[in-house]
Amino acid sequence: MRLLLQWSGLRSNTRSSFVMPCAAQTRFLLLYGSQRGQAKAIAEEIAVKASDHGFAAEVSCLSEEEKYNLERERSPVVIVVSTTGDGDPPDTAINFVKKIKTKTLCSVHFAHLHYALLGLGDSNYSNFCNCGKTIDKRLRELGAQQFYASGYADDGVGLELVVEPWIEGLWDALRKFVTSAMSTSQKDTNSHVGDHNAKNEMGTIESAVTDLNLHLLSLNESSSQDESSGSCNTVAEGELLEASLTRSVLPLSESSLNIPALPAAFLDVELLNELQQDSTLLKPPEAAHQVVITSAKQLTREDAVKTTLLLEMDISETQLIYEPGDSFDLLCPNNNSEVEELLLRLGLVEKKHHIVKLQVKPDTKKKVSQLPSYIPEHSSLQYIFMWCLEIRAIPKKAFLRSLVEYTTNEHEKRRLQELCSKQGFADYNHFIRNPSLSILDLLCAFPSCMPTLSVILEHLPKLQPRSYSAASSSYSNPGRVHIVFNIVEFPLCPERPVPRKGVCTGWLSNLVLPILQHSGGQMMLPVAQDASIVLPKVYICSRPSSAFHLPSDTAAPIIMVGPGTGVSPFIGFLQHRKKQKEEHPDVSFGETWLFFGCRHKDRDFIFRDELGLFQAEGTLTHLRVSFSRDQDDSTEEVKPKYVQDNLRLNAQDVVRVLIKENGYIYICGDARNMAKNVHEELIDILSRELQIDKLEAMKVIADLREKKRYLQDIWS
Ligand code: FAD
Repeated sequence: MRLLLQWSGLRSNTRSSFVMPCAAQTRFLLLYGSQRGQAKAIAEEIAVKASDHGFAAEVSCLSEEEKYNLERERSPVVIVVSTTGDGDPPDTAINFVKKIKTKTLCSVHFAHLHYALLGLGDSNYSNFCNCGKTIDKRLRELGAQQFYASGYADDGVGLELVVEPWIEGLWDALRKFVTSAMSTSQKDTNSHVGDHNAKNEMGTIESAVTDLNLHLLSLNESSSQDESSGSCNTVAEGELLEASLTRSVLPLSESSLNIPALPAAFLDVELLNELQQDSTLLKPPEAAHQVVITSAKQLTREDAVKTTLLLEMDISETQLIYEPGDSFDLLCPNNNSEVEELLLRLGLVEKKHHIVKLQVKPDTKKKVSQLPSYIPEHSSLQYIFMWCLEIRAIPKKAFLRSLVEYTTNEHEKRRLQELCSKQGFADYNHFIRNPSLSILDLLCAFPSCMPTLSVILEHLPKLQPRSYSAASSSYSNPGRVHIVFNIVEFPLCPERPVPRKGVCTGWLSNLVLPILQHSGGQMMLPVAQDASIVLPKVYICSRPSSAFHLPSDTAAPIIMVGPGTGVSPFIGFLQHRKKQKEEHPDVSFGETWLFFGCRHKDRDFIFRDELGLFQAEGTLTHLRVSFSRDQDDSTEEVKPKYVQDNLRLNAQDVVRVLIKENGYIYICGDARNMAKNVHEELIDILSRELQIDKLEAMKVIADLREKKRYLQDIWS
């Protein structure tokens, strides 16, 4: 049964002060907390779909505190929130989380509140969906009740696996909840029923929650079956091998498809006759500090699997300050020739200097529609594609759905429909998501697809700055900051017949090529004095870390785990410590342990000499290294392969430092495998050494985390 009701604003005079619905659509409050726009986009999608289901969503960002009041909210509340960094709330949710965590709030503070929560995260990080989970837990502690089970979507395997069924199930849960609340309200009005009714109401809510749990479970089960190598469906697997980005095979090729609703267009785009000068292309749209790259060095040997570069930037002319452990955001443009290629493919290359005028379509059906804030007014087409749009973003299914409308060839049309359909999600993951395809790759593969500029602008997200940990200390290098990075390589694959480099690391490596060539790649030259080289300039902003800093108590022992480029902040820590020791010889300093790992001792052991020097003069008291590809099978001796193997070999010291001596552990680098493996190893170490079970060991780590003595700075 479909409910077409609207909250009238009248309140019942009973315990359940539910607003009585009387006409049109049922209102609910929809809050989102977004860092990079995902949660916002999903909230907007929910808002659009709501009206089809007889609901009206009132959407606000969690930071827009003037627009909502949870203390007085009687309608159902739906929250979509992402997690960023090491389990941190997105910037727009920080205040909200802080507020609800206030210790003085009592256990019935939100007893009137009924909510559903969708958390977004990435299971490659150990604190998966931490912000969503924190909000969920805290709301319940404060008496709020779920009317629908929380969904936790994992960007590591595809957000849509949970997001889509969660949204689908939301409408039923809302209907059940509203029906139940109305009947409770009605009964209350008639007979002032108390606790008994409350139990009934809860029963309904709980059953809705259970229904959804089962629904999600079955969907997850079927998706993991589809995703796995298909032991239960060998025919499908065999066929999948022959399928390609542009070709499907049975059963998908003949399956009827559930495709998403066509996203409502919301932008009117006009190319003005006014032209923009090329010089404006040099500056990013956001305020940032322009700094000079004063030197560059290749830290790895030519035969290393990955190339690691170290850059030094001069920040002396800026107000920028930093502590070791902080990072810097670098604003980078998209690759120029890729932009040209994309504009050419869109038939717009001739117009690239034209100023673009954007307006929200007056008749748009999109509920929450606004101009993209990251596209400044008066920008040329070329500028927008270079600086404002993440042209490498993996096209989402909604984008594919829109592309269908602009595709003339029937086969291509069908294939795009399949790739955005429920039935085609394994193909989507296999042929688009896993190889990290871009819109340009898709347009090359589907030549009859010719989307309008407005569709492209509606679907491509904001080009994000890239962050890099400071690999230096301003105490010992005043006015300078170092960053270290691997050049990201996307090898060619059947779906993308050209290899690519990462947007930022590829751009940076080209920028510093003259410096590297000049210095033979191996030396850090004082190029600032060399007039034959024009030093490149880049735009940066500081990105201070909330906790990833040396302990204020210099006597506290620390353990640093940083394989590969994960060692960067620890070089900053050690430089800082060395200077502190030199300037304060009477102060006592705790032990410092560094666990470093790489593939080959002779090819990619970055900062080998510097670490040796820190060790020789006592700033670094213990260095443990492991080389994963230098294993010698001919001897009996088992060498540690990864950082976690060395942690295990030093388990007693690890426990002594962390537990007996109240030390700190810092983990930096790869979030996909390393941080998880280290976490698991630490659980094993604690459980073995302290003779406690794994659950207890996990609690010890959670406690260390809470006390900011287990700190991570990880990225994928
Ligand atoms: P992009 O073009 O953005 O591509 C990278 C993306 O592609 C990633 O999502 C990756 O998973 C994926 N990818 C990579 N290779 C492939 C492949 N072969 N096929 C398919 N997908 C692939 N990085 C450092 O090197 N050093 C640091 O000190 C550092 N510090 C950081 C600190 C913080 C707080 C954060 C959030 C990140 C940090 N990073 C660091 C990561 C850095 O910001 C960038 O993400 C990284 O340099 C890649 O940027 P890019 O633009 O070159 O790559």
